[in-house]
Amino acid sequence: MLDYIIIGQGLAGSLLSHFLLKKGKKIAFVDNNHKEASSAIAAGIINPITGRNFVKSWRTDELQPFAFSTYDEISALLGVQIFYSINVAVLFRDIETSNNWLGRLSDPALEGYIAKEFDLNAYQKTFGNSVVSGAEFEQSGRCDIPTFILKWKDYLKEKGIDYLQEEFDYNQLQISSNDVSYKTLNAKSVIFCEGHAAEKNPFFSQLHFSPAKGEILLVKIQNYPFKNKMAKDGIFIVHLKDDIYWVGSSYNRDFEHSKPSKEACNDLINELTAMLNMPFELMDHLAAIRPTIRDRKPYLGVHPLYNNIFIFNGLGAKGSSLGPYFASHFANYLNGECVLDKEVNISRIKQKTN
Ligand SMILES: Cc1cc2nc3c(=O)[nH]c(=O)nc-3n(C[C@H](O)[C@H](O)[C@H](O)COP(=O)(O)OP(=O)(O)OC[C@H]3O[C@@H](n4cnc5c(N)ncnc54)[C@H](O)[C@@H]3O)c2cc1C
Repeated sequence: MLDYIIIGQGLAGSLLSHFLLKKGKKIAFVDNNHKEASSAIAAGIINPITGRNFVKSWRTDELQPFAFSTYDEISALLGVQIFYSINVAVLFRDIETSNNWLGRLSDPALEGYIAKEFDLNAYQKTFGNSVVSGAEFEQSGRCDIPTFILKWKDYLKEKGIDYLQEEFDYNQLQISSNDVSYKTLNAKSVIFCEGHAAEKNPFFSQLHFSPAKGEILLVKIQNYPFKNKMAKDGIFIVHLKDDIYWVGSSYNRDFEHSKPSKEACNDLINELTAMLNMPFELMDHLAAIRPTIRDRKPYLGVHPLYNNIFIFNGLGAKGSSLGPYFASHFANYLNGECVLDKEVNISRIKQKTN
């Protein structure tokens, strides 16, 4: 008998499977070929200092190093680089933000995160003279999530792990106190890692999701001089390969469908035109939905009635930094090695509110 059937092989399911396999667990996957997977279009940026007030992201000091070492470990397993250590360069175009930043420089909590130099002249050449100053952050980077999930799928198949590429049919899940069965698969437990699609999961209908649609552009920029930085000016420009860059992203809680929209495309083109003093060519425009939770903390836990139905979700807009640590924590919990961290346990959700 298998230990776990995992539903969904996006970032959450892939990371969780990594830690379960390390514990020698027998697993199987059901995934609908990454249909609408947010992981398939994310840049995977890990940016430790965020917001108008330049504060450290939630639990950065423990999440970040763990994420970096996990991605290095997975890169070695796959024989493919999935993590890039790259600084984030934030551009300021108004004096107020610039002063705000200067006021934060002496905060000891930011020590080790701020790069020594910000070459204003160089940035002005590429982004225009309206850039008045900026900041560059270290201990940041990027997980190439799309490559990770595709290569991980091959890796699972090479290891002989059962992988049903299909839409999961909730009606066919048979649950008893000792095991769960789904079609040909029989396991002790099932773990749902369906990203935003979990909104339709009847087993966890008590949970509230606040999904946020995100749209991005893939553009070609020739002779762009900041391939080795992730430049941020409202939107990010991130180098992918050759002269191709990821530009994004939009963040929209009020959406009617998951497809790319003309409006968001135009907005992103306008933002990029305003940001960049160089010509670019639009190559593609993609959209997906982030599995976002109102309190911005992941959803980890067990079904209130069935002790063999679990959920690992809610990685929101920060899956690449939150994912590794909480996947490892969840694998430890499933293996009886710890209790669930209260801040991420779904038991914190008392009732669904709209
Ligand atoms: C535009 C955009 C930009 C982003 N940028 C960043 C970033 O820079 N940094 C960062 O950290 N995060 C970023 N994110 C967020 C990141 O994508 C998510 O945190 C993370 O990828 C979520 O992973 P997941 O596995 O929970 O969900 P998903 O990636 O959505 O994966 C769910 C998987 O389950 C499968 N599935 C769902 N339902 C079923 C079913 N019924 N049957 C079978 N299979 C099913 C799906 O096909 C998919 O493969 C971004 C997201 C978007 C949309």
